[in-house]
Amino acid sequence: MYDIIIVGAGPIGLYGATLGSLHNLNGLIIEASSTVGGQLTSLYPEKDIIDLPSFNKIKAKDFIAKLFEQYQSKKNRFPLKIEEKVCDIKKKNDYYLVITDKDQYESKTIVLATGMGTFSPRPIGLENESKLKNILYSCKDVKIFNNKDVVILGGGDSAVDLSLLIKPLSKSTTIIHRREEFRAQSSSVDEMYIQKINVLKNKSIISIDQINNQSLQIKLKDNSTKNEKIIIADYILVQYGQIPSQDNFPIEKNNNLIKIYDYYQTSLENIFACGNIITYPGKVKNLTTGLGEISTIITKIDQIINPTKNIPIHF
Ligand SMILES: Cc1cc2nc3c(=O)[nH]c(=O)nc-3n(C[C@H](O)[C@H](O)[C@H](O)COP(=O)(O)OP(=O)(O)OC[C@H]3O[C@@H](n4cnc5c(N)ncnc54)[C@H](O)[C@@H]3O)c2cc1C
Repeated sequence: MYDIIIVGAGPIGLYGATLGSLHNLNGLIIEASSTVGGQLTSLYPEKDIIDLPSFNKIKAKDFIAKLFEQYQSKKNRFPLKIEEKVCDIKKKNDYYLVITDKDQYESKTIVLATGMGTFSPRPIGLENESKLKNILYSCKDVKIFNNKDVVILGGGDSAVDLSLLIKPLSKSTTIIHRREEFRAQSSSVDEMYIQKINVLKNKSIISIDQINNQSLQIKLKDNSTKNEKIIIADYILVQYGQIPSQDNFPIEKNNNLIKIYDYYQTSLENIFACGNIITYPGKVKNLTTGLGEISTIITKIDQIINPTKNIPIHF
């Protein structure tokens, strides 16, 4: 029987496991995907994060590497189950049964740090899409774009941030957006024009074909004039967002996000939630907020597990 099971080894769950070790709790952390780090690993590993305390800037993947190193440095670290998805949670007398696609575990308390849930990239929606080479949905290693013609599809933060990242090393970088206005930080959009990224707005993709078994031929249509245009690319990076598949745990939700009460407890006793999966008035979906939330939760869980202990606040 565990004191605590953390579901999700994104940045928030991973930091929770470190705090759990500091509190000397007997815990387990379970992650559905093949790597830790959540969105930072899957969606924007190369992005510079500039709003974390003490780092002028740090790449998302480097921040996760540091969080993981800190987690691993604890002798009493929580075992980590990777590629194991939590599918259900069942209430037993005074504990919960956490059921995964591989096993089941008993725990007195649970922390849901499931963020966007398990997710898959939203495709362009072309019939031949899965057969095309060099269409990517995330940027794991920016070096592959070295001296290549790169087309980025999308108009949000991730598309714009990636265009800025890829531009200095690519032969050409083009961003194609279906609307007139970008949904990204205005300073990043300004920077895109300063960096002379080819910006094609208000365009729809008609078709994409492989030519010479290598390059990709993209046929576009202007949404207003209906004029068509062809662009050739070595790589297409699709940034149309993710299709989240959220868990169906029997917990009170608001627009698919978990509603929380005092100490970030959910509608179920001793099940807590934090990070991007929760909602409350004023919730800011970023790293520092989630890291603070899990700190409150781990302290509360230590009090529940050890009611007579003098709970440490600093270490
Ligand atoms: C493009 C982009 C740029 C961003 N830039 C910044 C920034 O500069 N600064 C900043 O502070 N924030 C930034 N954010 C926001 C930040 O990434 C999130 O706030 C943060 O990732 C939330 O962490 P999390 O651990 O709650 O969720 P996630 O990162 O989503 O991690 C959740 C983890 O839980 C796992 N999981 C889900 N369901 C299950 C299940 N049933 N069983 C097991 N595992 C499960 C998932 O696989 C995933 O690994 C950015 C986000 C995006 C998309």
